[in-house]
Parts: sequence; C-alpha cells; structure tokens
Amino acid sequence: MINGKNMQTNENKIDVSKIYNGEEKEIKFEFDIIPENTENMDLFFERAPKVSGRAFEKARGRGKADSYVGLEFGISGKYKTHCARCFADIEGEIDVFKEYDLVKKTESENEDIIEVPNGILDIRELADTVFYLELPFCVLCKEDCKGLCETCGKNLNEGPCTCKKSTGSNSLADLKKLLDN
Ligand SMILES: [Zn+2]
Ligand SMILES: [Zn+2]
Repeated sequence: MINGKNMQTNENKIDVSKIYNGEEKEIKFEFDIIPENTENMDLFFERAPKVSGRAFEKARGRGKADSYVGLEFGISGKYKTHCARCFADIEGEIDVFKEYDLVKKTESENEDIIEVPNGILDIRELADTVFYLELPFCVLCKEDCKGLCETCGKNLNEGPCTCKKSTGSNSLADLKKLLDN
C-alpha cells in the first residue's frame, strides 16, 4: 500500500511481480498528484487531486504461466479557472477512471496494454501523464459565450455595447475581389 502522505520519491513504483507469479492478488495505492505549472494554464487546484486504485489478478495463470494483471485507478480533483472569452470565474472538475492490462511482453500498440517486464511500474508517472492529458485546454463559461467587446471591454453576455461594429459585408466583398483577380 502506497500512501500519499508517507510516499517517498523511491516509492512511486508498484511491484506487480507477485501478482504475475500468483503470490499476491491485489496491490492498492493512493496518492496525491502534485500539479506543476498548471497556473500557467490558468488552472488552480486548492487541494491536490487524488489518485486511487489497484493492480489485481484478473485471471490466474495456469501451470508456470503468469497471472493476468489488471490495473485500474481514478483521478479526481477540483480546479478554478476563468472563461477563455469573458474571464468569468469557473469551477471545474477532473474525474477520470482508467483501466489497463499489465503484461510482461506485448507487440500490441494498444495504449491500454502496458508492458511491465519486471513487474515494476512507475504508477506516479502514469497517473501524471493521464492527469495532464485530462486538463482542459480552453474552458468557456457556456458554449455560446459572447466574450468581451474588443473595443470597450463590455461583457457582451450582459447585452450589446454601443461601439460601432465593422460590418462583415465589406470584408466579404474584399475577399470576393481577391478571389476574382
Ligand atoms: Zn464566458
Ligand atoms: Zn464595445
């Protein structure tokens, strides 16, 4: 059992070799993700997101065959950010569940099958990778957020501003001219 609070840098790994050989049925783990540089993405985590899961014997190996090892874990955490268009405060959630098969050797390109020849898996590295892929790239307060007026800065979700709008027809006409030439 890996515990986030006591977890040392050299304890980021789990050893499933004893599940391969049938000595153990299950290894549970739980630790915190330490988000790095997420402020640059305008994502703020008040509490470290949690990782919780297990590696387990999916099917017992017969004779000298290795047991079939499954890995499953969830990552959950709450973040604060801003709408990419109008900068309104937004609270969001990361809530992901992943399942993998751990094998000693594979030719498969399937990303859900992880080759772990000696049974030692860097679970923190894997969880970190999943976590960073789950981070939202561009968050909007609502799908059709109108954003802010580029000229006066008014939040256009609250109503139109009085700035003169450049008419779209001009640019369309210009484009047509270009295409005709
Ligand atoms: Zn917005
Ligand atoms: Zn305006």
